[in-house]
Amino acid sequence: MTQPQTRGTALLDLRNVVKEYPGSPALRILHGIDLRVEYGELVAIVGPSGSGKSTLLALIGSLDRPTSGQLLFEGHDLSALSEPAIAALRAYRIGFVFQQFFLLPGLSTVENVATGLLYSGVSASRRRALARDTLCEVGLGHRLDHRPGELSGGEQQRVAIARALVGRPSLLLADEPTGALDSASGAAIIDLLRSLNADGTTVVVITHDRDLAGSFPRRVGIQDGRIAFDDSAAERGRNAAGHEPDEPVPPGPLAPVVATPMSTAATGDFR
Ligand code: ADP
Ligand code: MG
Repeated sequence: MTQPQTRGTALLDLRNVVKEYPGSPALRILHGIDLRVEYGELVAIVGPSGSGKSTLLALIGSLDRPTSGQLLFEGHDLSALSEPAIAALRAYRIGFVFQQFFLLPGLSTVENVATGLLYSGVSASRRRALARDTLCEVGLGHRLDHRPGELSGGEQQRVAIARALVGRPSLLLADEPTGALDSASGAAIIDLLRSLNADGTTVVVITHDRDLAGSFPRRVGIQDGRIAFDDSAAERGRNAAGHEPDEPVPPGPLAPVVATPMSTAATGDFR
């Protein structure tokens, strides 16, 4: 990959992205998503279960391809890239974290994190050194030789985050990373994502936790495969006087119009 351009080019630029699954009729999951994410942002994606959040994140992370529309990553149109180039992008530029930790039970935490560099051409000893450094960054310097089964859920998620980060991706994607954790461990994971963001990593997180999402600098609501709202913390503050504290504001200039902007998201169920 060419080096990222940090001026003028968004980290992510989705233009009229449509995702359909084949069938008769085809099942349209995403109905033309326009979304731009700049370098350094911390974005929460919220919306009811089945609204298309994971589908959207998979497209952003190049785990899947859109049916139509354009998806630009660091200025590169993913549809124009070859499979090897996309695989390289996935391996080096994007880190993924999921609700399940997907750690290998027979490996130590260092070895699990080092797998994040398996195809990077980095030597085994260097992989281990980088894995150790990254585990220290996520607060697990004292658990380097433990197996996943000897760690709490929150610690296992930290290992998964370290594995996603060890290659220094420009984008960290997390799909409900706190979904399997108790609230205290979940809050600690969100704090970690915040501090990684403060250190320069762009982070896009799917969460069903209203309080967490409400505290994010930017919140994008997905409803029935469309963007229902896209607001900043500042906008939420400005609108607080005339709205319930966590009520989504009407779509701003960034958000495509949706027929019923205030449906489920306003009722408090983000799942
Ligand atoms: P969310 O993450 O918001 O809960 P998803 O993106 O997982 O939603 O799913 C959105 C919709 O797409 C759901 O209705 C789901 O059943 C459907 N879906 C997901 N994957 C497939 C697939 N491979 N084939 C058909 N439909 C799918
Ligand atoms: Mg999902």
